[in-house]
Amino acid sequence: MGDLLKESNRESLLPGIKAYHAGEPGAGDRLADALRDPVTREVASRLGDDHESVASDALLATLTYLDRDAGFAGDIRHLAVTIAGNRCSDLVRWRRLRRPPPPVADPARSILDEIEPPQRLATLQSALGHLTADCRRLLRAMYVDGLSSEAVRERLGLATVQGVHYRRSVCLRRVKTHVSQRLHGGSEPAEPGGRDATDPSGYVCIDPRLGGELWRLEDPATEAGQRSRLETHVAFCSSCRQQRDVEAATGSGLRSNALKLGSTAGRDVRRLRWLGGAGGIAIAAGLALMLLLPPTGTVVPGDGGPTIVGPVAGEVVPGSRPTLQWTAIDGISSYRVSLTAVAGDYVWQASVSEPTARVPEDRPLPSGDRFRVAVQPVPAHLAPPGGLRSTFRTGNAGAFVLYRVRQGSLAGQILLGLGLSAVVTGAILMGRRRSLASALGNVS
Ligand SMILES: [Zn+2]
Repeated sequence: MGDLLKESNRESLLPGIKAYHAGEPGAGDRLADALRDPVTREVASRLGDDHESVASDALLATLTYLDRDAGFAGDIRHLAVTIAGNRCSDLVRWRRLRRPPPPVADPARSILDEIEPPQRLATLQSALGHLTADCRRLLRAMYVDGLSSEAVRERLGLATVQGVHYRRSVCLRRVKTHVSQRLHGGSEPAEPGGRDATDPSGYVCIDPRLGGELWRLEDPATEAGQRSRLETHVAFCSSCRQQRDVEAATGSGLRSNALKLGSTAGRDVRRLRWLGGAGGIAIAAGLALMLLLPPTGTVVPGDGGPTIVGPVAGEVVPGSRPTLQWTAIDGISSYRVSLTAVAGDYVWQASVSEPTARVPEDRPLPSGDRFRVAVQPVPAHLAPPGGLRSTFRTGNAGAFVLYRVRQGSLAGQILLGLGLSAVVTGAILMGRRRSLASALGNVS
């Protein structure tokens, strides 16, 4: 119903617009008369009755807009009323700032001018923090990496260069919405990428159909006529002018590195987490190699003859009941095993037929002592030169791990070293990033 009414309003004034564009005498006055009532009512509702000049200014601006945009076929009533409404917003805001308001149409005057430059950057920076990862990727490619539109299109996997410009404008509209909220208050979250209906600045696009095409100004393929219409629109439309201001300020801030796209921080954190994770895996793998494989580094079988393979000389064994193992010797009937404390009175002896023996439950080894192992084959003449001997130490888990790390396989040591350095590097970088982040937090 409302749309139908709007449409009929639009239709009813189209002949008047045509006549005005054709230069018919008196056509401008007739249009102004038709628009005076709704414009005056708008101004009165915003500022009170005593603002005839504001209504007249708005009507004049409306006709000037028509002069510049020969192709205008939109809703002239909406145009005039919105120009008047935006003008009222201007007056209210600039009065609050105790500064004279800019002229109705002044493309040179930036709406961001009302904020002091340092605060302007902080406001934009905070707005950038609300962008999606996709938007950050696009803005980074465009402004930080300075890629051409075509290169951006390729990096983002978009179908057309127009798509790049359109998305850019959607992303920067979000920035503008947040800037508006910061500047003008209002808790109403604006629709992402939406029109200005909820813009807390109070500015409304005077011709939303054209305003929605604003992104074409950045597209070199936009034809001259369309470009000139859009430029005229921006000159008269406070809402779109604010949009363009924010776009320009954001672009130049990003180019000069005065503004940062925060998502690199997130990416760094992911990288650091990855580094930490990879380091952890390397440490685990290194330790596994060292703890599960026998410490071959100290086994020196000499001429390849029989030898004790566990515990090897100097080994630290965990627990109190290690298993002793040696190379099998052909032709023996049994082995006599003796285990004695180097400095103590522990002695255990056994006779076994297999080349392995476990310390029995009732003779556990005291922890932290050194022990001597001797294995004597029966008959004795089958013993290798020098016999089968080894010394080892019992220790707790920590001593065991330390020993294995020292004596462990080269692969394990390399993995462990890499893993530890990855984790330490990650931790240092993470710490640096945190202190950087808190420093930045203090600034903004
Ligand atoms: Zn607009």
